[in-house]
Amino acid sequence: MHIDQILKKKKTLSFEIFPPKNKSGDISSIYQTVEALKDLDPDFISVTYGSGGSTIGKTLEIADVIKNTYGIEPMAHLTSIVSTKEDVNDFCMKLKESNVDNILALRGDMPLDDRVVCPKQFSYATDLIKHIQETFPNDFCLAGACYPEVHQEADCFENDLKALKAKVDAGAKFVITQIFYDNNYYYRLVREARKIGIDVPILAGIMPALNAKQLLRTTRMCGCTVPFELSTRIEKYYYNDDAMQEVGISFAVNQIIDLIANGVDGLHIYTMNRPEIAKSIFAQIPNILKDFYHYD
Ligand code: FAD
Repeated sequence: MHIDQILKKKKTLSFEIFPPKNKSGDISSIYQTVEALKDLDPDFISVTYGSGGSTIGKTLEIADVIKNTYGIEPMAHLTSIVSTKEDVNDFCMKLKESNVDNILALRGDMPLDDRVVCPKQFSYATDLIKHIQETFPNDFCLAGACYPEVHQEADCFENDLKALKAKVDAGAKFVITQIFYDNNYYYRLVREARKIGIDVPILAGIMPALNAKQLLRTTRMCGCTVPFELSTRIEKYYYNDDAMQEVGISFAVNQIIDLIANGVDGLHIYTMNRPEIAKSIFAQIPNILKDFYHYD
């Protein structure tokens, strides 16, 4: 099913998982993750795509199993900066064979290694969206990424927003935000996006901050700011992982309550392949979440 059809009827709750990284290439552990997440009745689960296409096979296999074994709607991420049109067509054909209908169409990060070739067939995510639309008309529901605190390469918020408008005009049916810990950035993005005619659902990407190192890595990679109240708690529990986890979960719960109260279109939880964290969030606010997306 195309996810935009679900979004026309209700608010959504979804999860992101990534193909497990291990030397043996064994990905069976991800199925326990999906099995556990199924208990929470998500509207869809998205599967990341390793930068430069390093996980193509695994992304396809996991999306296939989510759909055909667990009966949950999958969304496969696809990055295009090092892809040719043939690579993209091949990926899309394989998704079609598995009846996977949804793609998060991304440009991907510029490779740090200058020996990696960028064929320049897709300079931006918008080019990828246009290409898939033209080559596979109506086969896929395409989504895009957006950045409440502005993408690192953009020179200003206004130009980043114009790029987002172009992505939506090209055919993105909804967008998912980069991680943020200060909801005010999300509200600014939604407010300004609506002013320039971006009218698709903007799902909020939430990643609980579970330990200080992970949080610092994430903020460096994504360029998101850490609010003062979160940074003081991190300082206090820097060396106490269990307490830090409680801080991260309770901070995420408060973000979610505030987002729901302010009418967020959907919540997309970056699970880090740890379903117990998603379950802890649910355990704290079962009635608020039931009311939000009606799970039993
Ligand atoms: P684009 O939308 O193309 O934007 C990239 C930059 O170009 C921005 O600065 C934008 O303002 C600018 N721009 C866009 N169009 C134009 C234009 N026409 N003219 C001038 N400037 C323009 N990465 C992975 O490797 N794998 C994943 O699975 C993955 N999943 C993600 C999921 C989400 C929800 C998000 C938010 C990010 C994800 N990423 C993933 C990271 C993403 O690949 C990077 O943030 C990447 O640097 C940008 O990708 P994009 O699709 O947003 O690029």
